[in-house]
Amino acid sequence: VKKVKTIPKAQYGGRHTVTMLPGAGIGPELMSYVKEVFKYAGVPVDFEDVDIDPIADDNVDLDYAITSIRRNGVALKGNIETHSTEAGVMSRNVALRNELDLYVNVLHCVSYPGVNSRQKNIDIVIVRQNTEGEYSMLEHESVYGVVESMKVITSSNSERVARYAFEYAKRNGRKKVTTVHKANIMKLSDGLFLETSRRVAKNYPDIIHNDMIIDNCCMQLVSNPHQFDVVLTTNLYGAIVSNVVCGLLGGAGLLAGKNYGDHYTVFEPGTRNTGTSIAGKNVANPIAMLNAAVDMLRHLGHKHYASIIQNAINKTINQGIHTRDLGGSATSREVVDNILKHIKIATTTENFY
Ligand code: ADP
Ligand code: MG
Repeated sequence: VKKVKTIPKAQYGGRHTVTMLPGAGIGPELMSYVKEVFKYAGVPVDFEDVDIDPIADDNVDLDYAITSIRRNGVALKGNIETHSTEAGVMSRNVALRNELDLYVNVLHCVSYPGVNSRQKNIDIVIVRQNTEGEYSMLEHESVYGVVESMKVITSSNSERVARYAFEYAKRNGRKKVTTVHKANIMKLSDGLFLETSRRVAKNYPDIIHNDMIIDNCCMQLVSNPHQFDVVLTTNLYGAIVSNVVCGLLGGAGLLAGKNYGDHYTVFEPGTRNTGTSIAGKNVANPIAMLNAAVDMLRHLGHKHYASIIQNAINKTINQGIHTRDLGGSATSREVVDNILKHIKIATTTENFY
């Protein structure tokens, strides 16, 4: 297996510069909390803010964002909106992933004991193909009233995402990989994805491999989620399965996802929501974006800062300081202030001893 390591760009004086794409809705407020927490903890990371105009009919801002990520190697991202319906202006979230060849999305879904969720003790890793399938953006109206949309599955992308899933399983002591598909109906496209995963599985005799149809998978996730370990799937099914599992664990405000390619890495909230209706109201849950920021710190090698912030987040959740999406009554501000309080306790004790 070719070992690929994404190396964050070396930066002057041990500091890293990271691209920040706040996006729309609650993105900007969540990013301001990240900056506040980083500043408070003394994290040696500087952000290069890039705003993308949702109304623009061109891709000038997007190109700038992509250039910035190519330079910095790493980005923290909110959900970007694309209002234009002009042909040629594609979803900027999709365009960004495709341009940077971020071919795998990883969502580690672990229950928080302090969150009153529908299912307890879940620990599922979703490995999703992130650049093709139904997101190929090849749609057209062939004749009036008839729209065709192309779903593209390639053996090369199926293979590298399958390799990622099995390699992840091997390195993290996981026992089973489940390929999720609809190969009974989409025999060629999903058939290729499934067959490729079966072929890759042969190289990992210690890891159990099975497969499941997407519809049954959704039912099984809701009724018996503990049977799942690593889930390997295509782009659209991955989006659906990710949202199902996040819903079981406590919703859109908790978990973070990672987008990997061979060269660049983009961190963002796991369910990629805009949260337009709750923006600016001091009610959005800041945890998912803070978890994305913690993942980013680990990736950059700032493990010490990552664990200080992670502990502060966990303590805050376990204390029951929850925003209303988790059934609590705390504001975003109150959650962040409590996290800052725990960072202060941790850093002061350290300085003392
Ligand atoms: P919208 O259509 O309003 O932009 P989304 O589709 O982006 O909403 O989000 C789906 C749901 O998840 C919405 O109810 C939104 O309020 C909620 N949501 C998304 N992110 C968060 C968050 N960080 N905290 C609380 N609720 C959130
Ligand atoms: Mg939405």
